[in-house]
Amino acid sequence: MSVARLYTVQKSRKDQGKCHKCGVELPAGSPYLYYYVGFRSNYKHVRCTKQECFPKPSERESSKTATILAAQENFDVSGMDSKDDIEAAVQEVGSSIQEVADEYQEALDAWENGNYELEEKKDHYEDQANEISNWTYEGDEEPEREEDEDEEAFQARWDEWIEQVRSEAQDAVDNIDFA
Ligand SMILES: [Zn+2]
Repeated sequence: MSVARLYTVQKSRKDQGKCHKCGVELPAGSPYLYYYVGFRSNYKHVRCTKQECFPKPSERESSKTATILAAQENFDVSGMDSKDDIEAAVQEVGSSIQEVADEYQEALDAWENGNYELEEKKDHYEDQANEISNWTYEGDEEPEREEDEDEEAFQARWDEWIEQVRSEAQDAVDNIDFA
C-alpha cells in the first residue's frame, strides 16, 4: 500500500466540476486539491478545500504494493543452479520493497508535523527491504564430492542441497510481510 501524493491548487484555471466528497461546485478560480490513486492511474480525484473533505491517507492509499506482488509473482529460481544467483534473485526483490518504503517517505514529507501511521509503514517496509536485500542462505554449505563417492550419489546429494537453497529463497520472498 502506498499513499498518493496530494496536490494543492490555489486558483484553478478551469472548471473542476464537483468536489468528489461533498459535491460542491468548483468553478474556475476556486482552490482545490487533487490526487491520483494507484500505480499509473490517471483518474483525477478532486476535492474542495474544506477540512472535512481533506482526503485521509487511507483514501489516498493505492496498491503500490502491487510492485512487491509483481516481484513475488516474477520470482522464479526453479531453474537456477547457483547459490549466488539464487541469493541475488532474492536480494533484488528488496529493491521493490524499498520503492514502497520510499513512497511512504515521500508521503510523509508532505506532513509538516509528521504522521505516525505513515511513519510506521515506512519503517515497516524499510525493515523488510533491508532483510530481503541482505538475504543469504544460512543452511548447509555446498556439498563437495567425497573421494570414494560415486558421481551419482554426489549428484543426488548436491541436488538435494540446491533444492533446499531454492526452497528457502522462495520462503523468504513468499513471507514478505505487508503492513
Ligand atoms: Zn468538498
